[in-house]
Amino acid sequence: MDFSLSTEERQIRDTVRAFVEKEVMPLEPEVLRNERAGQPGVPADVLRELRLKAKRMGFWGINTPEEYGGAALGPIMSAIIAMEMGRTFVPFTFGGSADNILYAGNEEQKRRYLIPTIEGERRSCFAITEPGAGSDARNIRTRAVRDGSEWLISGEKTFITGGSEADFVMVFAVTEPYGVTCFLVDRDMGWKSEPIPTMGEWGPASLVFEDVRVPEENILGELGKGFELAMEWIGQGRYMIPARAIGSAERMLGMAVDYAKIRKSMGQAISEYQAIQWMIADSQVEIEAAKWLTLYAAWQVQEGMDARHASSIAKLNGAVMANQVVDRVLQIHGGMGYTKELPIERWYRELRLLRIFEGTDEIQRRTIARNLLKGHARLGAIGE
Ligand SMILES: Cc1cc2nc3c(=O)[nH]c(=O)nc-3n(C[C@H](O)[C@H](O)[C@H](O)COP(=O)(O)OP(=O)(O)OC[C@H]3O[C@@H](n4cnc5c(N)ncnc54)[C@H](O)[C@@H]3O)c2cc1C
Repeated sequence: MDFSLSTEERQIRDTVRAFVEKEVMPLEPEVLRNERAGQPGVPADVLRELRLKAKRMGFWGINTPEEYGGAALGPIMSAIIAMEMGRTFVPFTFGGSADNILYAGNEEQKRRYLIPTIEGERRSCFAITEPGAGSDARNIRTRAVRDGSEWLISGEKTFITGGSEADFVMVFAVTEPYGVTCFLVDRDMGWKSEPIPTMGEWGPASLVFEDVRVPEENILGELGKGFELAMEWIGQGRYMIPARAIGSAERMLGMAVDYAKIRKSMGQAISEYQAIQWMIADSQVEIEAAKWLTLYAAWQVQEGMDARHASSIAKLNGAVMANQVVDRVLQIHGGMGYTKELPIERWYRELRLLRIFEGTDEIQRRTIARNLLKGHARLGAIGE
């Protein structure tokens, strides 16, 4: 068993770390100012420039196949890069990526949707959740009815990330009697979006479809096979959520360690008190545990294994860990932690989402328990 990174992996990790420290972290005060004024944290032109700078350094399409111009670094490296990117709350990601299920498209769909998305010319969103169907995704009511060589889609989607900005949506609708089908629907075909204010800094949107007319050739994958695509989309990067959270938690724990050494109370630094030391120790233990559970899930994906069980464990653990760590870090900072002078409250609001989207804590627990109860996963397994 070898836990070490190869020389190349270490070099990539160090380069991303340096990029984040030198190019991204300096934007943090401006991001806080912009967001607090109700503006996007990073203006579009700054984001574009930053992405191009990263591209010149080779960071473009981290997980995109080489034939599409990507770096195809694989799941383990993607997880390590996400940990580095998570060290800052600046909403920055490398360019050159597209949703995994767009690769299921035919050549024409790849030309119209996949490639422009990789190039950054088009923006997608993924819409399965509805007001009456979240965790219970099989209960969606949005309908598509055939009308000659076209389909008429009607229904409402909610909490759709990027729904206000996207110019096309991968929307899931019931197509009787075949089951659920995924359609690629351009905004100018007639769907409308409405932003949903949330406690986080970026808001999802609700999408409304009223007899939106979509040609048959816009079916992604096969008629009636949409649910499998939806699960593939959700499953693709479940380990990426805890990966990013690990970076955030480590950065914040570093802030707490520094603060505890300089903040004095009752004649000595608060770092001298066991109450504070235990919060620091527990946080590091939980971060380390999350790191290895996440890398284990990424390794399973890389090896082509069925990583669903390991990914659910990593996602549940990482989401809970990040929320516990940010809460302790805020506590160690006392009143200052609660102010807007520090970014802790921002992280606190953002990280809370991790326990809800892409499968709530409860749904991960349900998956883990059912896998064990039904024998899909077994106790005592190591590296298999
Ligand atoms: C900011 C944000 C962005 C999102 N982005 C997207 C997106 O891009 N695309 C998309 O399609 N969706 C998106 N979602 C939706 C998200 O995936 C759902 O909110 C999530 O799956 C939970 O569904 P729900 O909100 O309907 O809660 P519900 O399913 O109504 O759950 C309510 C509570 O009941 C619990 N619960 C439900 N069923 C069970 C069960 N069987 N056993 C035990 N407990 C249960 C839940 O865990 C939760 O605590 C986003 C949500 C948010 C908040």
